[in-house]
Amino acid sequence: GSLQVSELAEKLSRESSEIIKKLMFSGVMATKNQDLDPDTIELICDEYGVKAEEEIVVDETDFENYISDDDPADLVERPSVVTIMGHVDHGKTTLLDSIRKTKVTAGEAGGITQHIGAYQVEENDKKITFLDTPGHAAFTSMRSRGAQVTDIAILVVAADDGVMPQTKEAINHAQAAEVPIIVAVNKMDKEGANPDRVKQELMEYNLVPEEYGGETIFVELSAVKGEGIDDLLEMIVLVSEVEELKANPNRLAMGTVIEAELDKGRGSVATLLVQNGTLNVGDPIVVGNTFGRVRAMVNDLGRRVKVAPPSTPVEITGLNGVPQAGDRFVAFDDEKKARQVGEARQQRMIEENRGEKAKVSLDDLFEQIKQGDIKEINIIIKADVQGSAEALASSLQQIDVEGAKVKIIHTGVGAITESDIILASASNAVVIGFNVRPDVNAKRTAESEDVDIRLHRIIYKVMEEIESAMKGLLDPEF
Ligand code: GDP
Repeated sequence: GSLQVSELAEKLSRESSEIIKKLMFSGVMATKNQDLDPDTIELICDEYGVKAEEEIVVDETDFENYISDDDPADLVERPSVVTIMGHVDHGKTTLLDSIRKTKVTAGEAGGITQHIGAYQVEENDKKITFLDTPGHAAFTSMRSRGAQVTDIAILVVAADDGVMPQTKEAINHAQAAEVPIIVAVNKMDKEGANPDRVKQELMEYNLVPEEYGGETIFVELSAVKGEGIDDLLEMIVLVSEVEELKANPNRLAMGTVIEAELDKGRGSVATLLVQNGTLNVGDPIVVGNTFGRVRAMVNDLGRRVKVAPPSTPVEITGLNGVPQAGDRFVAFDDEKKARQVGEARQQRMIEENRGEKAKVSLDDLFEQIKQGDIKEINIIIKADVQGSAEALASSLQQIDVEGAKVKIIHTGVGAITESDIILASASNAVVIGFNVRPDVNAKRTAESEDVDIRLHRIIYKVMEEIESAMKGLLDPEF
């Protein structure tokens, strides 16, 4: 780029007249507003013993646009990325282990797998990537950070236990993210296994099996015995095909951090899921608010690799800090640019933390409705008993203030937990506690995530509050 004499003078903290004089001595006649070419700029900088470095304008959209600007002709099929969700003790971990044990790229000598937060298996020559952190906390905390990594959710339900509170939560999380669900009816080997009951119970949540005219795939299995695993994998491949998951392997990589930590010997270690493009050893990279160059890459088998195509999880070293799970990453072709983008993002993060995030809160609900920012108010209800939760939900759904409505995205019984807050944060929802309170973790997370929690004991008081908020009549007393 070029600079005017006066601009260069300012950068060097000199008077323009002084620069003009220097230029004259070098045989360049210039006025204050004259544009200087890079060579001349460098010449002057040399005189002052300053290194001229061309400033790269960092466009934030650079970072996000990497995702979607591919020519459809460049897209090829990519493996699906699967998360296993469900109630505690229903067999998520056992299923993840069982899949890995039976399927991890057969023939891989040694076959020693390394925990890097995700792994890949092969079924009918198709790869499937499993996120190795069971549970929806990981899933939703990533989503609350703007990252959508899961293509398919496996909902594990124990055949002898049926739908439980966290089953319900998992369904809400997956449905809120619009991720297709495959139901794995687990523990079929157990006495008292009753898959029909599971199917009946799940119909309430719009998960209707094909035999009842629905579209949800149910697979019966025993994670412990390794039975039904192949059926499940086949179904995953089937759903992946329907979803037409694609990426462009011939471009700079972008994706999401699965996990990251500081290792004593290796420094910052991060597992990245490549979602588009191909990541190479040596690539300059920005990861969240950190940056560096990919020094080494290790795959889920603990092998060093040089390239990581779409949907591949790899553990990398070489970053100048530890990013967070859910952070996005982008590779660059130019190290200087990566550094500048990284520094700009660091700076922006500091500024953002100072300013406030625009989360929905009852206090400014009216403003947001008026500005047309929201048409639906997402609400999560936690109550002491199921009956109250349902009564409250159906009452709230009747509210209609000038076209703005209430959408109940989750109801549950018991204290408000961190998981409720994370879901609220990810879905921009207000949490209502009816005769229940948030626990310690929930309180802390609500503060850091800026989630509005309202506690009540009388249904009509809740109605009154929500309606007033929607009409902008809420007393500013909080
Ligand atoms: P998670 O909390 O969902 O990760 O559940 P785990 O995988 O830790 O499993 C909880 C318990 O259920 C463990 O004792 C498992 O051995 C047992 N389990 C898991 N899958 C099966 C199964 O298919 N059959 C039987 N009988 N037990 C199972």
